[in-house]
Amino acid sequence: MKKIFKITKILVMIFLLNTITQSKTIIVGTNAEFAPFEYLDENKIVGFDIELVQEIGKRLNRPIKIKNLSFDGLIPALQVGKVDLLIAGMTKTPERAKFVGFTNDYFVAKQVLIVRKDAVEPKKVEELKGQKVGVILGFTGDLIITKIPEIKSEKYNTIFSAIMALNTGKVDSIIVDSAPAKSYVAENKKLKIVEIESAEEKYAIAGKKNSPLLEEINVILAEMLKDGTYDKIVKKYFK
Ligand code: GLN
Repeated sequence: MKKIFKITKILVMIFLLNTITQSKTIIVGTNAEFAPFEYLDENKIVGFDIELVQEIGKRLNRPIKIKNLSFDGLIPALQVGKVDLLIAGMTKTPERAKFVGFTNDYFVAKQVLIVRKDAVEPKKVEELKGQKVGVILGFTGDLIITKIPEIKSEKYNTIFSAIMALNTGKVDSIIVDSAPAKSYVAENKKLKIVEIESAEEKYAIAGKKNSPLLEEINVILAEMLKDGTYDKIVKKYFK
């Protein structure tokens, strides 16, 4: 009898713990300098990724809290448990996958170059040899350029500061993801985008390695694709 009582007690505790974790806030790290995925609109963090993760939170029945961090501080913040998830237009790379777990991808992107309007258009990254290319610290574009020793790279903390350097002639071009490049060039009449041969990059949400949350999100992402919610958010941010 005593044993049955003990087992029931344990079961009740497991049930309670489960309900507590289910309604627990999920803290999501991002870097709000990557429009249209995440950016500040009158001090509010908005964008495609933010809306996507808010919807995921709704479907998980857990509130979402967004934390704005520097891009290169995101993976360390996840590792020390300051945040539970990362959504930041982050490319799933084998190197990052050593430290974090990734969901299935939710967006496919490419790297492009931004140059001044009067510049000759390079077709391949190799043609940039001897030139100075602005890269954003820790971005995948940074990794591509840094691999080619003949290209001089200048590292910047934000896309915005790299754009300033390009406008003032400190660098000849900037390498950055396609969608943010479009949104920055739309606001800079003296600049243009040059498509280059570059590999596809897949954005995914990151969480702690082997976290069950990642699998739950995969199920939700598939549902959102099927029921049209994903397309609705795409239409809102990519006109
Ligand atoms: N997709 C790029 C990367 O993962 C840039 C991401 C970002 O700046 N938010 O490095």
